[in-house]
Amino acid sequence: MTWPEASKAASCKGSTLVWPFGACEQHGPHLPLITDTFFAENILIKTLESLPEKMPIWMMPSQSIGFSPEHQDFPGTLSLSANVLLSMVTDVGQQIASMGFKRLIFFNAHGGQIGLLQAVSRQLRIQCPSLAVLPCFLWSGVPGLDNLLTDKEVEEGLHAATAETSLMLHMANDLVQNDSYLDKKISSEEIISTPKGWSLEGASPCAWLTKDLSSSGVIGDATSSNVELGAALENALIDHWKSMFTSLLNSDWPPIMFERPISSS
Ligand SMILES: [Zn+2]
Repeated sequence: MTWPEASKAASCKGSTLVWPFGACEQHGPHLPLITDTFFAENILIKTLESLPEKMPIWMMPSQSIGFSPEHQDFPGTLSLSANVLLSMVTDVGQQIASMGFKRLIFFNAHGGQIGLLQAVSRQLRIQCPSLAVLPCFLWSGVPGLDNLLTDKEVEEGLHAATAETSLMLHMANDLVQNDSYLDKKISSEEIISTPKGWSLEGASPCAWLTKDLSSSGVIGDATSSNVELGAALENALIDHWKSMFTSLLNSDWPPIMFERPISSS
């Protein structure tokens, strides 16, 4: 895009920017550090290509360093502090709003920064009421994932396990370094059990660090990963996000805010 094109884009009705949000963090001995960034960027590209032309939606440059303190014991991991990331996203979001864009979607593929992006989205909404902000997580809310993955993978396959390994085998075979994912030893055979009632993720989560759970960096079991599953996952992800973007683009979101009620006294 040139600047006149950006200006024209911003002035479109419902103009929407999507910011692919990844991380630079260990993904076991078999997947690259850029795994999350690769998924955010490439699933987004394919999703946008599947939309009818002339929809008012554009992709921003990918954010390839995120918030990954849980993986910092593993070389290659780079992480911004929460404060830096909040400030950076706020700065960029305010500029997007002042250019006149109407919506900003975070298309995030790293589970460890979901909460942070939700918090900064609320802050941005207060600071820039004209901008709708939608913090999405690539793997959340996707219908059919439960049918493709085992219950154990859904619950315990938190990192570099069957889903991510299969998707990478399908999308970029050459980025899967070797067959080490087939090695039982690198899978966390048994997830460390949390105190009764508490969980790693979900309702009552513990803020775990990877080294609490795994010496290889894999959390879950990658040994049943395969390219056919990867293709099915890719289809499910693209179908879902295509339908979510279409629904948003066909809507008037954000709503016109209610005026503050006038006190009758
Ligand atoms: Zn990942």
